[in-house]
Amino acid sequence: MFKKVVAAISLCTCLFANSAQMNKVSPDEAIEILKNGNTRFLEWKASHPNADKIRLDELSKGQKPFVTINGCSDSRVPPEIIFDQGLGDLFVVRTAGNVSATDQIGTIEYGTEHLGTRLVVVLGHTKCGAVTAVAKGEHVHGNIPALVSSIVPPVKKVKSAHVNEEYGKWLNEAIIENAYESIANILKKSETVRELVLSGKVKIVAAIYDVDSGKVKFLGEHPEQLRLLANIEANKILAKKLQSVKKQETVKKQETVKKHEEPTREPIREQKREKVEIKY
Ligand SMILES: [Zn+2]
Repeated sequence: MFKKVVAAISLCTCLFANSAQMNKVSPDEAIEILKNGNTRFLEWKASHPNADKIRLDELSKGQKPFVTINGCSDSRVPPEIIFDQGLGDLFVVRTAGNVSATDQIGTIEYGTEHLGTRLVVVLGHTKCGAVTAVAKGEHVHGNIPALVSSIVPPVKKVKSAHVNEEYGKWLNEAIIENAYESIANILKKSETVRELVLSGKVKIVAAIYDVDSGKVKFLGEHPEQLRLLANIEANKILAKKLQSVKKQETVKKQETVKKHEEPTREPIREQKREKVEIKY
């Protein structure tokens, strides 16, 4: 079954190959640009590019960022500074805990499908307050429980592998898992992004910013991406099959109802036939 679904994914790759006009910067080139920018930032050699009048005038005609970043709102992690980029370079979503819920995913769809960015980076960071709150089991109120609800599963998963260990020992692992969870949610909930990933046009990677050193570590794609995509496709196939079975059942039911009605109709037909016979 898994092989069949993987084959189906390869087929999708061809079908969706020409669906969007994408940025000329490839996913791997985009990662290199970000890595180089982070190195300049780390070495205190930031060039603060694309922050002048020429760039401003250029962008008044439209934007063409080369990457979509889904990062945390933490004030210590501003993407333009840590990657040494300027105006119009990064299309950024920032929410506490770098979660991927409806609004974030919609923004990512806009960044990839409409603006043509070929790389999506889910940017987590060390000492993340949102992940820490969940790891510590803190009581939150207002709209925060809804916000952190998607952080709970990855934290639970990591916690279960560290029974009786203090949260500080597995927090960094939970932060990484949370970044992967964010990628998984994008793939599960966005058919648009999923198709772009399947076509090879877009890559989604996780990265973690170290708030102590200022270094960004790129972790790559979700380690289970292929299986994840295969499961989604398998579920779609299953859903179609269920729909077809339901249709067949409905047709059968309708046929049964007709059969029950037939005895009352038959005498009427016979009567009509008799009338015709009398005429002859
Ligand atoms: Zn954070």
